[in-house]
Amino acid sequence: MKAVVSLNSGSSSIKFSLFVLDTQGALQFSAGGKIEKIGIAPSLKVRSVEGAILLERDWPDGASLSHADLLADLFAWAAEYPLEGREIIAIGHRVVHGGTEFAAPRLIEPDLLDALEALCPLAPLHQPHNLAAIRAIAALSPDLPQVACFDTAFHRDKPALAARLAIPRALHDQGVRRYGFHGLSYEYIARRLAEIDPALASGRVIAAHLGNGASLCAMDAGRSIDTTMGFTALDGLMMGTRCGSLDPGAVLHLQSQMGMSAAQVEELLYKRSGLLGVSGLSSDMRTLAEAGTAEAEEAMDLFAWRAGREAGALASSLGGLDGIVFTAGIGENDAAMRSRICRRLEWLGLEIDEIANAGNGPLISLPDSKVKAYVIATDEERMIALHTLKIVEKAE
Ligand code: ADP
Repeated sequence: MKAVVSLNSGSSSIKFSLFVLDTQGALQFSAGGKIEKIGIAPSLKVRSVEGAILLERDWPDGASLSHADLLADLFAWAAEYPLEGREIIAIGHRVVHGGTEFAAPRLIEPDLLDALEALCPLAPLHQPHNLAAIRAIAALSPDLPQVACFDTAFHRDKPALAARLAIPRALHDQGVRRYGFHGLSYEYIARRLAEIDPALASGRVIAAHLGNGASLCAMDAGRSIDTTMGFTALDGLMMGTRCGSLDPGAVLHLQSQMGMSAAQVEELLYKRSGLLGVSGLSSDMRTLAEAGTAEAEEAMDLFAWRAGREAGALASSLGGLDGIVFTAGIGENDAAMRSRICRRLEWLGLEIDEIANAGNGPLISLPDSKVKAYVIATDEERMIALHTLKIVEKAE
């Protein structure tokens, strides 16, 4: 019997999930957890599917521990985990950028790692950490197959126009183009929507992945035809600490008139902007909702206004709108924010059912609303595990 692990390795955290194959060949979530505060004071917590804590460790003086050090601890735990005769046959990774070349998940080989390394400048805050985890596991267990699942892949077949920036053609050919991200989340949502509401899934739908990172995806019959993130994960919606779409002239001004270096601008736009920058308080929507300050209120208003505006743009790409699906931390839990965004889409024919919305749906639009609205929990880890299993079984 087989088990598969999915890993999502970021700058300061590593999320992981262990899935086991049941007798029908379906993946069942068995345990999962998170290593947090890497580089400060790391901690590791693993929970079972029932929510029981299986392992808890803290390293208060562990600021110097690397991703590889901490993964070694996780590995030691996994080696002892009672898999009841099952064997971990592969590890799947979320890899943010697949560039122009990688349109589907791939088994990791040394050549592939080099090619993915070359894409680090396109996703400097994510890709290096994704690859660090792959290298760490290769060192710990050289024979264990690893699979890279790309966040860009779901958007690969969008129309050519949606991939082009209005800059000289040569730059497009060199890879300066709109890729789109959060693809594993959107792929999962497309699959779930097809189970929950097949008629809507075959229509024109905007999926709204609203977490710390946030984007929208325009799906036509379950395929991405446009999305708000572009060349990098900085474009589009306002996010927890990222600015989203910004007049490029502002970047020029920051550098040429205000004397900021490229590294300072990068830090400003990725880490000090968005909800944090506008509220002056926090990047966390819950904290802002409780704050009661005018600045926090304005940050939330701007978040909803920008989401409404970008949704309007995607409705144009789709030539109309049949439904919207909310997902990720804010999308799944923040009824007040969903309501604000839905009210900005009334002109498209969306009538929110506030009672259903307060109960987190799943259907949160009124019965005769022209545009349907749903809340669907995303599960990128499961999507990674599904891809990983398929790739490894094909390679066997
Ligand atoms: P990440 O992109 O890091 O995976 P998440 O999808 O976990 O982020 O989303 C984090 C965001 O979701 C934060 O702004 C957080 O405040 C918000 N969030 C999580 N739970 C709730 C909740 N119950 N109510 C409102 N907002 C929530």
